Amino acid sequence: MSDCIFCKIVRGELPAAKVYEDEKILAFLDIKPVNHGHTQVITKSHYFNLLETPEEELSAIMAVVKKIAPAIMKAVGSAGFNLGVNNGSVAGQLVPHVHFHIMPRRQGDGHELWHGLEYAPGEMSAVAEAIKRAL
Ligand code: AMP
Ligand code: ZN
Repeated sequence: MSDCIFCKIVRGELPAAKVYEDEKILAFLDIKPVNHGHTQVITKSHYFNLLETPEEELSAIMAVVKKIAPAIMKAVGSAGFNLGVNNGSVAGQLVPHVHFHIMPRRQGDGHELWHGLEYAPGEMSAVAEAIKRAL
């Protein structure tokens, strides 16, 4: 896609600190990292988000996540990582090209996860039923 920034990185039209590349997949450092080593794993082909990405491409992404996450943690001295995929602008997706965030974590780094809501009595089973009906 001509004006997609991640496609431009794939084509070499924009610079990136690449950490891994193969036939299908590219991984490079995020320019605004949660922590040093925060990496984007993307398909070289353009797909908008996870739901539009074929299974074999998702498998290739996951294989690369498993391969490089230990190296990222080792390089930056981290003992764990979050894996994130934002799907749709309401979920915080800014770049319209499928990407998996590998975010290495350190004790006390201040990066917050979600704060859980409560279900009212009966709501949880109603939501589960609605999801099953929608499948
Ligand atoms: P998202 O909000 O899930 O779409 O995440 C997009 C991510 O891409 C953000 O974390 C940005 O910091 C990152 N990003 C945007 N432009 C670049 C770039 N040129 N090189 C590396 N990372 C980028
Ligand atoms: Zn793209």
